[in-house]
Amino acid sequence: IGACGLVGLIGMLIAFRWYLPRARAAYLAEGAAGSTLAELITTTASGARTIEAFGLQQRRQAACDDAIGTARRTRLRTLQLRSVLFPAVDVSLVLPMVGALLVGSVLMHAGSITVGAVVAGALYAQQLMQPLDTILLWTETIQSSGASFARIEGVAEAARTPPGRSNRPEDAHVRFTDVHFAYDGGPDVVHGINLTIRPGERLAVVGPSGAGKTTLGRLLAAVDVPRTGRVSIGGVPVTELGVDELRRHVVLVTQEHHVFLGTVRDNLLIARPSSPDETLRSALATVGAQWVHELPQGLDTELGDGHHRLDGAQSEQLALARVVLANPHTVVLVEATALLDPARARHTERALAAALRGRTVIAIAHRLHTARDADRIAVLNDGRLDELGTHDELLATDGAYAALWRAWHGES
Ligand code: ADP
Repeated sequence: IGACGLVGLIGMLIAFRWYLPRARAAYLAEGAAGSTLAELITTTASGARTIEAFGLQQRRQAACDDAIGTARRTRLRTLQLRSVLFPAVDVSLVLPMVGALLVGSVLMHAGSITVGAVVAGALYAQQLMQPLDTILLWTETIQSSGASFARIEGVAEAARTPPGRSNRPEDAHVRFTDVHFAYDGGPDVVHGINLTIRPGERLAVVGPSGAGKTTLGRLLAAVDVPRTGRVSIGGVPVTELGVDELRRHVVLVTQEHHVFLGTVRDNLLIARPSSPDETLRSALATVGAQWVHELPQGLDTELGDGHHRLDGAQSEQLALARVVLANPHTVVLVEATALLDPARARHTERALAAALRGRTVIAIAHRLHTARDADRIAVLNDGRLDELGTHDELLATDGAYAALWRAWHGES
């Protein structure tokens, strides 16, 4: 019986040795293809209006078809692997019983054992293999779940910033040193920028669309990493500061103000966990969010879909209250490209001014009038720093900024 069991076991081992190395790669590919497809379909659905407005339906359709094709191919591949493994395991499972019956019948004909012994032997052989079958099928499940888990683990890895040298910035100086940057292996869109921003300074970054203004802000907030050169705060490259440490120094404020599902308190605590209610109220008061007092449950009011809805200005104030709570010394402010309606603009400007008071501000200015009030203006063109100085200095230089200013001023 033992020898027959061994034959089955060898069969199973061969099947698994063939299967395991192939399965991991195949399940990983299946997982990746599934999430690409889900991402494409979700973004296509959520951006449907934009896609229609730009007439991109066919392109998105083609991309979805492509992703469906890949998802189908990867799924067929894992199915193919299983359809070799399972029959091979099934055959290996019955081999011991078949062996026991064959050997048993020979012995029985020779008269050395009885029919009962042959049947008992065959049943023993069967029972010998059953736990093995269970163990090996578990291995298959572990293999596919392992691949799924690897993807989750990958997310954790990606979120982890490179090991910080636990250097603490010496001061609040922001410095760009010969920074070059390209998106995803494309051509450089930032070419050798050198720039130092003093603590408490308000720097406006201006330039034509596509000049690299937003990219500069993203580099400072460590959303992107320079290809060469470095962006540092107080002498420490921003990429070497952990996310938590970095957010104590720099916060990126864009015009997309997200309200998270949860209470007003939850929405604020993201910026500074375990702050007492008093601190939260004072941050809200700083940005003029008096409406919180009129909410049915105050800080405990649930926000988001299906709950209390905030209007645009209120979401903006909530986001700015988060900046006040996080209390970074530097804010990268991506200003609105579109003009707000005057009433809301006044409200917003006041809240913004309160949130930015006393901080270094790097304002990505899409409109020139905000640039005029800055301490210095950096003029970007085609990823290069063309001019740097105060409004008056730049007008006196009569360069690109002066031309932009005259054009804008003449028209307005
Ligand atoms: P600005 O803010 O001055 O309008 P950006 O920093 O947005 O300019 O863009 C600078 C350049 O980088 C442009 O040529 C733009 O096409 C390119 N770019 C911006 N974002 C991306 C991206 N996510 N992927 C590839 N290229 C990008």
